[in-house]
Amino acid sequence: MQPSSPGETKAQTDFDRSLLKAIQEASPDGILVVDARGHIVSYNRRFLETWRIDPEYLHLQKDADGTLTERALMGQALSQLRDPEVFLARVQELYASPDEEDYTEVALVDGRVVERHSVGLRGEDGLYLGRVWFFRDITPRKQLEAALRQSASFDPLTGQMNRRHFMDSAEEEFVRARRFAQPLALVMLDIDHFKPVNDQFGHAAGDFVLEVVCQRWSGILRSVDLLGRIGGEEFAALLPQSRAREAEAVARRLCEAVSEQPFEFEALSIRCTVSAGVAVLAADDRRVQDMMRRADDALYRAKAAGRNAVMGEKI
Ligand code: GH3
Ligand code: MG
Ligand code: MG
Repeated sequence: MQPSSPGETKAQTDFDRSLLKAIQEASPDGILVVDARGHIVSYNRRFLETWRIDPEYLHLQKDADGTLTERALMGQALSQLRDPEVFLARVQELYASPDEEDYTEVALVDGRVVERHSVGLRGEDGLYLGRVWFFRDITPRKQLEAALRQSASFDPLTGQMNRRHFMDSAEEEFVRARRFAQPLALVMLDIDHFKPVNDQFGHAAGDFVLEVVCQRWSGILRSVDLLGRIGGEEFAALLPQSRAREAEAVARRLCEAVSEQPFEFEALSIRCTVSAGVAVLAADDRRVQDMMRRADDALYRAKAAGRNAVMGEKI
């Protein structure tokens, strides 16, 4: 290789510097570079923005010789974290393990989530030079993920679990109840003559009734009970630790919550009733669907008996 002249070396160094600066400033990540002594070598604008650090504040943290230590910055970062101890412990661990790479999601007190990525730096001779930290505000992605999870599992109209989520959660309860030989009851509920409600008052009124029915039921059910929207105007409630008599009493209260108070929508006063079927866990049930089938049979009998009724299992 041709030995490079001092002029070329300077040009190359200038080029490398400005390239590095351009990469840093164009990066979507906040970047902080710390050398082996814990001195801050560089940071970009995005770093200051992510951590809401005032450049003036940083200036004031400088030592007399103009150096800025990573420690001086740490206080500013820690005060914004939900769990500063865990953050600090991990940072110290990484400084102690130069070759370790790290990806961590960090929760901030203002509700944001920041992804922290970090790599150690080594020179060509293998000497440890320091560590680079990358910080990316991933709050929008986390919010999107949460919204997707919500819409995959919950009914947008009533806010209750959708069929799939209810069945999954009910199956978990079912397995637990069987394992610990505990009582479990399931109530199937279906609004009576709901089609005429839509036909007479309009779909928006029907939607309003569904929403308020669920609000009333949520006020009656315990926090351990599960409520799901199984179909259009059909719901299911799973009641852990409940035997037939208790569950039938709960089912009656759920029906009364609908029948005893009209639904006031705009200028309308809409009256509705509900029919319910109740089943309890039986020794030879293999899945929660086995209970559901019996609760559905009971619901069918409640409908056949004239509606606005609660039926238990046939013994
Ligand atoms: P039954 O007493 O036998 O249950 O009579 P029903 O009219 O309630 O039963 P049917 O199954 O014939 O009709 C259910 C109706 O529920 C039809 C449909 O328009 C209405 N429905 C289902 N989902 C929704 C919804 O999300 N919003 C509104 N407004 N209506 C709905
Ligand atoms: Mg119905
Ligand atoms: Mg129905």
